[in-house]
Amino acid sequence: MSQTIAIVGRPNVGKSALFNRLAGRRIAIVHDQPGVTRDRVSAEVEWRGRPFTLIDTGGIGLRPGEKTHDILVAATRQQVELAVQSAAVIFFVVDIREGLVPLDEELAEWLRASGKPVLVVANKADTPEWDAQTVEFAKLGFDRVFAVSAEHGRGLEPLMRTALALLPPPPATGPEEQSPETDAPLKLAIVGRPNVGKSSLVNALIGSARVIVSPIPGTTRDAVDVPFEIDVEGRKERYVLIDTAGLRKRRKIHDDIEFYSVTRAEGSIRRADIVLFVLDAEAGILEQDKKIGGLIVEAGKPCVLLVNKWDLFQEIVQKEWEKKRAAARTRHQPEPPPDPLQIFGSWVREKLFFLDYAPVIFTSAVTGFQLDRVLEAVRYVSAQMRQTVPTALLNRTLHDAVERHPPVSKEGHRIKFFYATQISHTPPTFLMFVNRDEDFSEPYKKYLVGELRKAFGFEGCPIVLIPKPRP
Ligand code: GDP
Ligand code: GDP
Repeated sequence: MSQTIAIVGRPNVGKSALFNRLAGRRIAIVHDQPGVTRDRVSAEVEWRGRPFTLIDTGGIGLRPGEKTHDILVAATRQQVELAVQSAAVIFFVVDIREGLVPLDEELAEWLRASGKPVLVVANKADTPEWDAQTVEFAKLGFDRVFAVSAEHGRGLEPLMRTALALLPPPPATGPEEQSPETDAPLKLAIVGRPNVGKSSLVNALIGSARVIVSPIPGTTRDAVDVPFEIDVEGRKERYVLIDTAGLRKRRKIHDDIEFYSVTRAEGSIRRADIVLFVLDAEAGILEQDKKIGGLIVEAGKPCVLLVNKWDLFQEIVQKEWEKKRAAARTRHQPEPPPDPLQIFGSWVREKLFFLDYAPVIFTSAVTGFQLDRVLEAVRYVSAQMRQTVPTALLNRTLHDAVERHPPVSKEGHRIKFFYATQISHTPPTFLMFVNRDEDFSEPYKKYLVGELRKAFGFEGCPIVLIPKPRP
Protein backbone atom coordinates (compact mmCIF):
# COMPACT_ATOMS: atom_id res chain seq x y z
CA MET A 1 0.00 0.00 0.00
CA SER A 2 1.19 3.40 -0.91
CA GLN A 3 2.13 6.27 1.34
CA THR A 4 -0.05 8.58 -0.69
CA ILE A 5 -2.72 11.11 0.08
CA ALA A 6 -4.80 12.34 -2.86
CA ILE A 7 -6.59 15.67 -2.82
CA VAL A 8 -9.89 15.48 -4.69
CA GLY A 9 -12.74 17.93 -5.14
CA ARG A 10 -14.61 20.03 -7.63
CA PRO A 11 -12.88 23.09 -9.09
CA ASN A 12 -12.30 26.18 -6.96
CA VAL A 13 -12.74 24.67 -3.51
CA GLY A 14 -9.07 25.26 -2.70
CA LYS A 15 -7.36 21.99 -3.55
CA SER A 16 -4.28 23.62 -4.89
CA ALA A 17 -4.18 26.03 -1.94
CA LEU A 18 -4.25 23.02 0.39
CA PHE A 19 -1.62 21.26 -1.67
CA ASN A 20 0.66 24.28 -1.48
CA ARG A 21 0.05 24.73 2.22
CA LEU A 22 0.97 21.12 2.98
CA ALA A 23 3.81 20.92 0.50
CA GLY A 24 5.13 24.12 1.97
CA ARG A 25 6.03 25.65 -1.33
CA ARG A 26 4.34 27.23 -4.28
CA ILE A 27 4.42 24.53 -6.88
CA ALA A 28 0.95 24.56 -8.25
CA ILE A 29 0.18 27.29 -10.72
CA VAL A 30 -3.05 29.03 -9.81
CA HIS A 31 -4.56 30.90 -12.67
CA ASP A 32 -7.93 32.53 -13.09
CA GLN A 33 -8.37 31.38 -16.64
CA PRO A 34 -10.44 28.23 -16.89
CA GLY A 35 -8.62 25.41 -18.55
CA VAL A 36 -5.18 26.52 -17.50
CA THR A 37 -4.39 23.58 -15.37
CA ARG A 38 -1.57 23.24 -12.97
CA ASP A 39 1.93 22.28 -13.59
CA ARG A 40 3.12 20.17 -10.67
CA VAL A 41 0.57 17.93 -9.13
CA SER A 42 2.50 15.73 -6.80
CA ALA A 43 5.09 16.31 -4.13
CA GLU A 44 7.06 14.42 -1.55
CA VAL A 45 5.98 15.99 1.71
CA GLU A 46 6.89 15.67 5.37
CA TRP A 47 4.54 16.35 8.22
CA ARG A 48 6.05 16.27 11.70
CA GLY A 49 8.90 14.15 10.40
CA ARG A 50 6.67 11.66 8.61
CA PRO A 51 7.20 11.50 4.82
CA PHE A 52 4.38 10.83 2.39
CA THR A 53 3.35 11.62 -1.17
CA LEU A 54 0.72 14.24 -1.81
CA ILE A 55 -1.21 14.38 -5.08
CA ASP A 56 -3.37 17.24 -6.22
CA THR A 57 -5.73 15.81 -8.79
CA GLY A 58 -6.46 19.22 -10.29
CA GLY A 59 -9.79 19.70 -11.98
CA ILE A 60 -12.20 16.87 -11.64
CA GLY A 61 -15.38 17.19 -13.63
CA LEU A 62 -15.54 19.27 -16.72
CA ARG A 63 -14.37 22.82 -16.80
CA PRO A 64 -16.19 25.31 -19.01
CA GLY A 65 -15.53 24.66 -22.67
CA GLU A 66 -14.36 21.10 -22.24
CA LYS A 67 -16.05 18.33 -24.11
CA THR A 68 -16.48 14.83 -22.81
CA HIS A 69 -15.22 13.27 -26.02
CA ASP A 70 -11.96 15.15 -25.72
CA ILE A 71 -9.44 12.40 -25.21
CA LEU A 72 -7.29 14.64 -23.05
CA VAL A 73 -10.16 15.34 -20.71
CA ALA A 74 -10.94 11.66 -20.61
CA ALA A 75 -7.34 10.84 -19.89
CA THR A 76 -7.19 13.46 -17.15
CA ARG A 77 -10.27 11.97 -15.54
CA GLN A 78 -8.70 8.60 -15.82
CA GLN A 79 -5.63 9.98 -14.09
CA VAL A 80 -7.81 11.27 -11.25
CA GLU A 81 -9.24 7.80 -10.90
CA LEU A 82 -5.76 6.33 -10.89
CA ALA A 83 -4.67 8.80 -8.25
CA VAL A 84 -7.59 7.76 -6.08
CA GLN A 85 -6.84 4.09 -6.65
CA SER A 86 -3.20 4.51 -5.78
CA ALA A 87 -3.85 6.61 -2.68
CA ALA A 88 -4.16 5.27 0.86
CA VAL A 89 -6.19 8.26 2.06
CA ILE A 90 -8.40 10.75 0.24
CA PHE A 91 -8.82 14.39 1.17
CA PHE A 92 -12.20 15.32 -0.21
CA VAL A 93 -12.18 19.11 -0.29
CA VAL A 94 -15.41 21.12 -0.13
CA ASP A 95 -16.08 24.85 0.24
CA ILE A 96 -17.54 25.69 3.67
CA ARG A 97 -18.58 29.14 2.45
CA GLU A 98 -20.57 27.86 -0.48
CA GLY A 99 -21.95 24.90 1.40
CA LEU A 100 -22.93 21.60 -0.15
CA VAL A 101 -23.51 21.61 -3.93
CA PRO A 102 -24.79 18.78 -6.15
CA LEU A 103 -21.37 18.12 -7.67
CA ASP A 104 -20.02 17.47 -4.15
CA GLU A 105 -22.68 14.80 -3.68
CA GLU A 106 -21.87 13.21 -7.01
CA LEU A 107 -18.22 13.10 -6.12
CA ALA A 108 -18.99 11.68 -2.69
CA GLU A 109 -20.80 8.78 -4.26
CA TRP A 110 -17.95 8.13 -6.62
CA LEU A 111 -15.38 8.30 -3.81
CA ARG A 112 -17.41 5.98 -1.62
CA ALA A 113 -17.26 3.40 -4.39
CA SER A 114 -13.47 3.50 -4.25
CA GLY A 115 -13.61 2.00 -0.76
CA LYS A 116 -10.78 4.26 0.42
CA PRO A 117 -10.82 6.14 3.71
CA VAL A 118 -12.18 9.62 2.90
CA LEU A 119 -11.62 12.65 5.11
CA VAL A 120 -13.86 15.59 4.26
CA VAL A 121 -11.90 18.82 4.30
CA ALA A 122 -14.27 21.78 4.70
CA ASN A 123 -12.01 24.52 3.43
CA LYS A 124 -12.13 28.31 3.66
CA ALA A 125 -12.99 28.23 7.39
CA ASP A 126 -10.73 31.22 7.92
CA THR A 127 -12.16 32.04 11.37
CA PRO A 128 -13.67 29.84 14.13
CA GLU A 129 -17.18 31.15 13.36
CA TRP A 130 -17.25 28.98 10.29
CA ASP A 131 -16.47 25.74 12.10
CA ALA A 132 -20.08 25.02 13.00
CA GLN A 133 -20.97 24.82 9.30
CA THR A 134 -19.23 21.45 9.10
CA VAL A 135 -22.50 19.75 10.13
CA GLU A 136 -23.89 20.38 6.68
CA PHE A 137 -21.25 18.11 5.19
CA ALA A 138 -22.12 15.25 7.50
CA LYS A 139 -24.81 14.55 4.89
CA LEU A 140 -22.10 13.33 2.57
CA GLY A 141 -21.91 10.24 4.73
CA PHE A 142 -18.26 10.14 5.69
CA ASP A 143 -17.07 9.71 9.28
CA ARG A 144 -14.99 12.81 9.68
CA VAL A 145 -15.33 16.42 8.57
CA PHE A 146 -12.49 18.83 9.32
CA ALA A 147 -12.85 22.58 9.23
CA VAL A 148 -9.66 24.06 7.81
CA SER A 149 -8.36 27.14 6.12
CA ALA A 150 -5.73 26.31 3.56
CA GLU A 151 -4.99 29.96 3.09
CA HIS A 152 -4.46 30.68 6.78
CA GLY A 153 -3.13 27.31 7.82
CA ARG A 154 -6.02 26.75 10.26
CA GLY A 155 -7.14 23.31 11.45
CA LEU A 156 -4.44 21.33 9.70
CA GLU A 157 -3.08 19.59 12.82
CA PRO A 158 -6.12 17.36 13.55
CA LEU A 159 -6.60 16.63 9.85
CA MET A 160 -3.02 15.51 9.38
CA ARG A 161 -2.90 13.52 12.61
CA THR A 162 -5.92 11.52 11.47
CA ALA A 163 -4.59 11.12 7.94
CA LEU A 164 -1.14 9.93 8.96
CA ALA A 165 -2.66 7.38 11.33
CA LEU A 166 -4.55 5.96 8.35
CA LEU A 167 -1.43 5.59 6.20
CA PRO A 168 0.24 2.18 6.19
CA PRO A 169 3.43 1.93 8.24
CA PRO A 170 6.41 3.36 6.32
CA PRO A 171 8.22 0.67 4.34
CA ALA A 172 11.68 -0.45 5.33
CA THR A 173 13.95 0.83 2.60
CA GLY A 174 16.20 -1.87 1.28
CA PRO A 175 18.01 -1.79 -2.05
CA GLU A 176 15.97 -4.73 -3.33
CA GLU A 177 12.78 -2.68 -2.98
CA GLN A 178 13.66 -0.42 -5.85
CA SER A 179 13.48 -2.46 -9.00
CA PRO A 180 14.48 -0.12 -11.77
CA GLU A 181 12.10 0.24 -14.68
CA THR A 182 13.87 -1.71 -17.37
CA ASP A 183 11.55 -1.05 -20.24
CA ALA A 184 10.56 2.54 -19.55
CA PRO A 185 8.01 4.09 -21.89
CA LEU A 186 9.29 6.68 -24.33
CA LYS A 187 8.49 10.20 -23.16
CA LEU A 188 7.16 12.42 -25.93
CA ALA A 189 6.59 16.16 -25.72
CA ILE A 190 4.44 18.02 -28.22
CA VAL A 191 5.57 21.63 -28.37
CA GLY A 192 4.85 24.60 -30.57
CA ARG A 193 3.27 28.03 -30.62
CA PRO A 194 -0.33 28.36 -29.52
CA ASN A 195 -2.79 27.46 -32.26
CA VAL A 196 -0.52 25.42 -34.50
CA GLY A 197 -2.68 22.36 -33.81
CA LYS A 198 -0.95 20.57 -30.94
CA SER A 199 -4.09 19.46 -29.13
CA SER A 200 -5.77 18.52 -32.40
CA LEU A 201 -2.77 16.35 -33.23
CA VAL A 202 -2.73 14.74 -29.81
CA ASN A 203 -6.41 13.95 -30.02
CA ALA A 204 -6.01 12.57 -33.51
CA LEU A 205 -2.97 10.53 -32.53
CA ILE A 206 -4.05 8.99 -29.28
CA GLY A 207 -7.68 8.95 -30.30
CA SER A 208 -7.02 6.61 -33.19
CA ALA A 209 -8.35 3.10 -32.92
CA ARG A 210 -4.99 1.45 -32.54
CA VAL A 211 -4.21 3.30 -29.37
CA ILE A 212 -5.29 2.22 -25.94
CA VAL A 213 -4.96 4.84 -23.27
CA SER A 214 -3.90 2.77 -20.34
CA PRO A 215 -2.36 3.28 -16.95
CA ILE A 216 1.32 2.66 -16.50
CA PRO A 217 2.52 2.26 -12.93
CA GLY A 218 4.92 4.97 -11.96
CA THR A 219 3.53 7.61 -14.23
CA THR A 220 0.33 8.16 -12.34
CA ARG A 221 1.84 10.67 -9.97
CA ASP A 222 1.84 13.32 -12.60
CA ALA A 223 -1.73 13.71 -13.68
CA VAL A 224 -0.85 15.73 -16.73
CA ASP A 225 1.15 12.94 -18.32
CA VAL A 226 -0.90 10.70 -20.57
CA PRO A 227 0.47 7.19 -20.97
CA PHE A 228 -0.63 5.19 -23.97
CA GLU A 229 0.15 1.90 -25.62
CA ILE A 230 -0.06 0.71 -29.15
CA ASP A 231 0.01 -2.76 -30.56
CA VAL A 232 2.57 -3.13 -33.29
CA GLU A 233 2.49 -6.58 -34.81
CA GLY A 234 1.60 -8.19 -31.52
CA ARG A 235 4.22 -6.21 -29.64
CA LYS A 236 3.22 -3.52 -27.17
CA GLU A 237 4.85 -0.13 -27.49
CA ARG A 238 4.59 2.18 -24.54
CA TYR A 239 4.66 5.94 -24.65
CA VAL A 240 3.94 8.80 -22.32
CA LEU A 241 2.76 12.07 -23.70
CA ILE A 242 4.13 14.51 -21.18
CA ASP A 243 2.69 17.72 -19.88
CA THR A 244 -0.58 17.61 -21.74
CA ALA A 245 -2.06 20.17 -19.36
CA GLY A 246 -0.30 22.74 -21.52
CA LEU A 247 -2.44 21.56 -24.39
CA ARG A 248 -5.77 22.21 -22.79
CA LYS A 249 -7.90 24.77 -24.49
CA ARG A 250 -6.95 28.39 -24.20
CA ARG A 251 -9.41 30.23 -26.34
CA LYS A 252 -8.20 33.68 -25.41
CA ILE A 253 -4.49 33.93 -25.48
CA HIS A 254 -3.11 36.65 -23.25
CA ASP A 255 0.46 37.75 -23.00
CA ASP A 256 1.09 35.94 -19.76
CA ILE A 257 -0.25 32.73 -21.21
CA GLU A 258 1.93 33.25 -24.25
CA PHE A 259 4.94 33.62 -22.01
CA TYR A 260 3.75 30.70 -19.98
CA SER A 261 3.56 28.49 -23.06
CA VAL A 262 7.23 29.09 -23.89
CA THR A 263 8.31 28.46 -20.30
CA ARG A 264 6.15 25.41 -20.30
CA ALA A 265 7.64 24.22 -23.58
CA GLU A 266 11.05 24.56 -22.00
CA GLY A 267 10.08 22.26 -19.13
CA SER A 268 8.45 19.72 -21.43
CA ILE A 269 11.46 19.67 -23.71
CA ARG A 270 13.76 19.00 -20.80
CA ARG A 271 11.70 16.04 -19.61
CA ALA A 272 11.16 14.50 -23.04
CA ASP A 273 13.06 11.69 -24.72
CA ILE A 274 11.86 12.90 -28.11
CA VAL A 275 10.30 16.26 -28.95
CA LEU A 276 7.54 16.61 -31.52
CA PHE A 277 7.82 20.19 -32.66
CA VAL A 278 4.68 21.40 -34.43
CA LEU A 279 4.75 24.14 -37.06
CA ASP A 280 1.81 25.75 -38.80
CA ALA A 281 2.05 25.48 -42.60
CA GLU A 282 -0.55 28.18 -43.09
CA ALA A 283 1.08 30.76 -40.82
CA GLY A 284 4.64 29.92 -41.82
CA ILE A 285 7.62 30.06 -39.51
CA LEU A 286 7.60 32.88 -36.98
CA GLU A 287 10.00 34.26 -34.40
CA GLN A 288 8.46 32.17 -31.64
CA ASP A 289 9.01 29.01 -33.66
CA LYS A 290 12.69 29.81 -33.86
CA LYS A 291 12.77 30.42 -30.13
CA ILE A 292 11.23 27.04 -29.39
CA GLY A 293 13.50 25.40 -31.96
CA GLY A 294 16.45 26.98 -30.19
CA LEU A 295 15.32 25.49 -26.88
CA ILE A 296 15.24 22.02 -28.41
CA VAL A 297 18.74 22.35 -29.80
CA GLU A 298 20.03 23.82 -26.55
CA ALA A 299 18.58 20.92 -24.61
CA GLY A 300 20.23 18.51 -27.05
CA LYS A 301 16.99 16.63 -27.68
CA PRO A 302 16.04 14.36 -30.54
CA CYS A 303 13.28 15.98 -32.55
CA VAL A 304 10.69 15.34 -35.25
CA LEU A 305 9.27 18.37 -37.06
CA LEU A 306 5.56 18.25 -37.80
CA VAL A 307 4.40 20.77 -40.36
CA ASN A 308 0.70 20.76 -39.58
CA LYS A 309 -2.36 22.21 -41.34
CA TRP A 310 -0.96 20.82 -44.54
CA ASP A 311 -4.45 20.80 -46.07
CA LEU A 312 -4.52 24.61 -45.86
CA PHE A 313 -1.07 25.08 -47.33
CA GLN A 314 -1.86 22.82 -50.26
CA GLU A 315 -4.95 24.87 -50.91
CA ILE A 316 -2.97 28.10 -50.93
CA VAL A 317 -0.35 26.75 -53.30
CA GLN A 318 -2.99 25.30 -55.58
CA LYS A 319 -4.94 28.58 -55.73
CA GLU A 320 -1.87 30.61 -56.47
CA TRP A 321 -0.93 28.29 -59.26
CA GLU A 322 -4.40 28.43 -60.75
CA LYS A 323 -4.27 32.22 -60.71
CA LYS A 324 -0.91 32.17 -62.43
CA ARG A 325 -2.10 29.65 -64.95
CA ALA A 326 -5.16 31.72 -65.79
CA ALA A 327 -2.89 34.71 -66.41
CA ALA A 328 -0.43 32.66 -68.41
CA ARG A 329 -3.03 31.07 -70.64
CA THR A 330 -3.36 34.21 -72.66
CA ARG A 331 0.39 34.45 -73.14
CA HIS A 332 2.64 31.44 -73.21
CA GLN A 333 3.00 27.91 -71.92
CA PRO A 334 1.66 27.55 -68.32
CA GLU A 335 4.14 26.54 -65.63
CA PRO A 336 3.90 22.99 -64.25
CA PRO A 337 2.16 22.79 -60.84
CA PRO A 338 4.60 23.43 -57.98
CA ASP A 339 5.34 20.82 -55.37
CA PRO A 340 4.15 22.22 -52.03
CA LEU A 341 6.28 19.70 -50.17
CA GLN A 342 9.37 21.09 -51.78
CA ILE A 343 8.40 24.72 -51.19
CA PHE A 344 7.77 24.28 -47.50
CA GLY A 345 10.56 21.78 -46.99
CA SER A 346 13.20 24.19 -48.19
CA TRP A 347 11.56 26.93 -46.16
CA VAL A 348 11.88 24.87 -42.98
CA ARG A 349 15.50 24.09 -43.77
CA GLU A 350 16.25 27.75 -44.38
CA LYS A 351 14.49 29.20 -41.34
CA LEU A 352 15.24 26.44 -38.86
CA PHE A 353 18.66 25.57 -40.20
CA PHE A 354 19.96 24.88 -36.69
CA LEU A 355 17.47 22.02 -36.43
CA ASP A 356 18.71 20.40 -39.62
CA TYR A 357 18.98 17.01 -37.93
CA ALA A 358 15.22 16.66 -37.48
CA PRO A 359 13.12 14.75 -40.00
CA VAL A 360 10.15 16.72 -41.33
CA ILE A 361 6.66 15.29 -41.66
CA PHE A 362 3.77 17.17 -43.21
CA THR A 363 0.52 16.47 -41.42
CA SER A 364 -3.08 17.48 -41.18
CA ALA A 365 -4.89 16.87 -37.95
CA VAL A 366 -8.11 17.64 -39.79
CA THR A 367 -7.86 15.31 -42.78
CA GLY A 368 -5.64 12.78 -41.00
CA PHE A 369 -2.98 13.19 -43.68
CA GLN A 370 0.23 11.33 -42.72
CA LEU A 371 -0.70 10.96 -39.06
CA ASP A 372 0.36 7.31 -39.21
CA ARG A 373 3.85 8.50 -40.06
CA VAL A 374 4.27 10.47 -36.85
CA LEU A 375 4.78 7.50 -34.56
CA GLU A 376 6.75 5.77 -37.30
CA ALA A 377 9.18 8.68 -37.24
CA VAL A 378 9.29 8.59 -33.45
CA ARG A 379 10.08 4.88 -33.54
CA TYR A 380 12.78 5.45 -36.11
CA VAL A 381 14.41 8.31 -34.24
CA SER A 382 14.27 6.35 -31.00
CA ALA A 383 16.15 3.48 -32.66
CA GLN A 384 18.68 5.92 -34.08
CA MET A 385 19.14 7.39 -30.63
CA ARG A 386 19.89 4.02 -29.08
CA GLN A 387 22.64 2.96 -31.45
CA THR A 388 26.18 2.61 -30.18
CA VAL A 389 28.90 3.05 -32.73
CA PRO A 390 31.59 0.39 -32.37
CA THR A 391 34.79 2.15 -31.34
CA ALA A 392 36.90 0.74 -34.17
CA LEU A 393 34.39 1.86 -36.79
CA LEU A 394 34.05 5.27 -35.17
CA ASN A 395 37.81 5.75 -35.21
CA ARG A 396 38.19 4.65 -38.78
CA THR A 397 35.46 7.05 -39.88
CA LEU A 398 36.97 10.00 -38.04
CA HIS A 399 40.52 9.21 -39.12
CA ASP A 400 39.39 9.11 -42.75
CA ALA A 401 37.53 12.38 -42.37
CA VAL A 402 40.49 14.12 -40.73
CA GLU A 403 42.86 12.80 -43.37
CA ARG A 404 40.67 14.02 -46.19
CA HIS A 405 40.34 17.49 -44.67
CA PRO A 406 42.91 18.11 -41.98
CA PRO A 407 41.97 20.94 -39.62
CA VAL A 408 43.74 24.18 -40.42
CA SER A 409 45.67 25.59 -37.51
CA LYS A 410 46.14 29.33 -37.39
CA GLU A 411 49.75 29.14 -36.23
CA GLY A 412 50.67 26.27 -38.47
CA HIS A 413 50.55 23.66 -35.70
CA ARG A 414 50.07 20.11 -36.72
CA ILE A 415 46.88 18.80 -35.24
CA LYS A 416 46.98 15.21 -34.31
CA PHE A 417 43.90 13.09 -33.71
CA PHE A 418 44.48 10.10 -31.46
CA TYR A 419 41.20 8.32 -30.91
CA ALA A 420 37.50 8.83 -30.20
CA THR A 421 34.88 7.15 -28.08
CA GLN A 422 31.10 7.42 -27.66
CA ILE A 423 30.31 8.48 -24.13
CA SER A 424 26.54 8.95 -24.27
CA HIS A 425 23.36 8.20 -26.20
CA THR A 426 21.19 11.08 -25.07
CA PRO A 427 22.26 12.89 -27.11
CA PRO A 428 24.89 10.85 -28.97
CA THR A 429 28.12 12.33 -27.64
CA PHE A 430 31.64 11.58 -28.79
CA LEU A 431 34.89 12.45 -27.12
CA MET A 432 37.68 13.02 -29.56
CA PHE A 433 41.19 13.02 -28.15
CA VAL A 434 43.56 15.39 -29.94
CA ASN A 435 46.83 17.10 -29.17
CA ARG A 436 45.34 20.63 -29.19
CA ASP A 437 41.63 21.33 -28.87
CA GLU A 438 41.83 25.09 -29.46
CA ASP A 439 42.32 24.57 -33.18
CA PHE A 440 38.99 22.82 -33.55
CA SER A 441 36.87 25.58 -35.05
CA GLU A 442 33.07 25.37 -35.09
CA PRO A 443 32.98 24.83 -38.87
CA TYR A 444 35.47 22.02 -38.52
CA LYS A 445 33.41 20.36 -35.82
CA LYS A 446 30.40 20.75 -38.06
CA TYR A 447 32.25 19.03 -40.86
CA LEU A 448 33.12 16.07 -38.63
CA VAL A 449 29.59 15.84 -37.26
CA GLY A 450 28.38 15.78 -40.86
CA GLU A 451 30.74 12.91 -41.62
CA LEU A 452 29.50 10.99 -38.56
CA ARG A 453 25.95 11.54 -39.71
CA LYS A 454 26.77 10.29 -43.21
CA ALA A 455 28.30 7.16 -41.73
CA PHE A 456 25.90 6.37 -38.89
CA GLY A 457 22.70 8.31 -39.52
CA PHE A 458 21.59 9.37 -36.06
CA GLU A 459 18.63 10.89 -37.84
CA GLY A 460 16.57 13.15 -35.63
CA CYS A 461 19.31 13.30 -32.99
CA PRO A 462 21.73 16.11 -32.34
CA ILE A 463 25.33 14.88 -32.35
CA VAL A 464 27.75 16.31 -29.84
CA LEU A 465 31.46 16.18 -30.57
CA ILE A 466 33.89 17.19 -27.85
CA PRO A 467 37.55 17.56 -28.74
CA LYS A 468 39.73 16.88 -25.72
CA PRO A 469 43.44 17.56 -25.45
CA ARG A 470 45.44 14.52 -24.53
CA PRO A 471 48.66 15.45 -22.83
P1 GDP B 1 -8.88 24.37 -6.71
O1 GDP B 1 -9.47 24.67 -8.06
O2 GDP B 1 -9.77 23.49 -5.92
O3 GDP B 1 -7.48 23.89 -6.74
O4 GDP B 1 -8.91 25.78 -5.91
P2 GDP B 1 -7.73 26.85 -5.66
O5 GDP B 1 -6.74 26.36 -4.70
O6 GDP B 1 -7.27 27.33 -6.98
O7 GDP B 1 -8.57 27.98 -4.92
C1 GDP B 1 -9.74 28.55 -5.47
C2 GDP B 1 -9.99 29.90 -4.85
O8 GDP B 1 -10.30 29.76 -3.46
C3 GDP B 1 -8.78 30.82 -4.92
O9 GDP B 1 -9.25 32.13 -5.22
C4 GDP B 1 -8.20 30.77 -3.51
O10 GDP B 1 -7.56 31.97 -3.17
C5 GDP B 1 -9.43 30.54 -2.67
N1 GDP B 1 -9.11 29.83 -1.41
C6 GDP B 1 -8.40 28.68 -1.32
N2 GDP B 1 -8.28 28.30 -0.01
C7 GDP B 1 -8.90 29.26 0.72
C8 GDP B 1 -9.11 29.46 2.13
O11 GDP B 1 -8.66 28.71 2.99
N3 GDP B 1 -9.82 30.56 2.51
C9 GDP B 1 -10.31 31.43 1.59
N4 GDP B 1 -11.00 32.48 2.05
N5 GDP B 1 -10.13 31.30 0.27
C10 GDP B 1 -9.43 30.21 -0.18
P1 GDP C 1 -2.90 24.27 -30.18
O1 GDP C 1 -3.14 25.61 -29.56
O2 GDP C 1 -1.53 24.18 -30.76
O3 GDP C 1 -3.23 23.12 -29.29
O4 GDP C 1 -3.89 24.22 -31.46
P2 GDP C 1 -5.32 23.54 -31.63
O5 GDP C 1 -5.21 22.08 -31.71
O6 GDP C 1 -6.24 24.11 -30.63
O7 GDP C 1 -5.71 24.06 -33.10
C1 GDP C 1 -5.88 25.44 -33.38
C2 GDP C 1 -6.88 25.59 -34.54
O8 GDP C 1 -6.33 25.05 -35.73
C3 GDP C 1 -8.16 24.85 -34.29
O9 GDP C 1 -9.22 25.65 -34.78
C4 GDP C 1 -8.03 23.58 -35.11
O10 GDP C 1 -9.26 23.08 -35.54
C5 GDP C 1 -7.18 24.05 -36.28
N1 GDP C 1 -6.34 22.97 -36.82
C6 GDP C 1 -5.51 22.15 -36.15
N2 GDP C 1 -4.89 21.30 -36.99
C7 GDP C 1 -5.34 21.59 -38.25
C8 GDP C 1 -5.06 21.04 -39.55
O11 GDP C 1 -4.26 20.13 -39.76
N3 GDP C 1 -5.74 21.62 -40.60
C9 GDP C 1 -6.62 22.63 -40.44
N4 GDP C 1 -7.25 23.12 -41.51
N5 GDP C 1 -6.89 23.16 -39.22
C10 GDP C 1 -6.27 22.65 -38.14
